[in-house]
Amino acid sequence: MVQERLERAARQVGRSASHIEIVAVTKGHPSAALREVAEAGLPIVGENRVAEAQEKFLEVGRLGLRWHMIGHLQRNKARSAVRLFDVVESVASLRLARKLAVEAERVDREELEVLLEVNVSGEATKGGFAGEEVVEAAPEIVVLPRLRVVGLMTMAPFTSDVEVLRTVFGRTRELFDRCGREVPGFEARVLSMGMSNDFEIAVQEGSTRLRLGTVLFGERPRLIAS
Ligand SMILES: *Cc1c(COP(=O)(O)O)cnc(C)c1O
Repeated sequence: MVQERLERAARQVGRSASHIEIVAVTKGHPSAALREVAEAGLPIVGENRVAEAQEKFLEVGRLGLRWHMIGHLQRNKARSAVRLFDVVESVASLRLARKLAVEAERVDREELEVLLEVNVSGEATKGGFAGEEVVEAAPEIVVLPRLRVVGLMTMAPFTSDVEVLRTVFGRTRELFDRCGREVPGFEARVLSMGMSNDFEIAVQEGSTRLRLGTVLFGERPRLIAS
């Protein structure tokens, strides 16, 4: 069971699992998966494509869940994202942040909670601020109207090499702490890291939010363009 694994990993480093949130990642699964999430009492769902999330929203509605955007967001989808999602975890550039602020104003959304995405491993296929860059960009983002910057998000490389994973998560944690110390207006509350294959290590390295798909729902039946 995921909950037991989460509790064990937290205990090993003297943390409490009750301070770690789970985003149930329903991308690639039909909208019935969102119903399951709501029925199971999990509060948050994660989707990585605006169009797919909109489709599901039309089918099942909000379901009392918090909807998190976790995937690459194109600026031309920013308005739809601002309308649909409670939180955007994948703010990967200053330009996207500015666009989200403009759109939030335009649709009269008072506040949009966001995380800044960092890519500390430098993988070209992944978006996000390259390491240190996030500390330089954050001051320009926290002052944008309508955005509330509450932390960082990262995706580790897909590997079972524990040392690589620890380094990536540990480095992200350092950047998170630095932003919290050095950037007034950056609320260091949420550190979103850890997926199905690496969440226990992420917990040990200080994650406060896991994004879990496969361990909750099994393999995704639909092919995902990420
Ligand atoms: C798909 C996805 C996840 C969940 O992945 P699993 O390996 O199925 O747990 C988490 N975060 C992001 C950004 C994703 O795109």
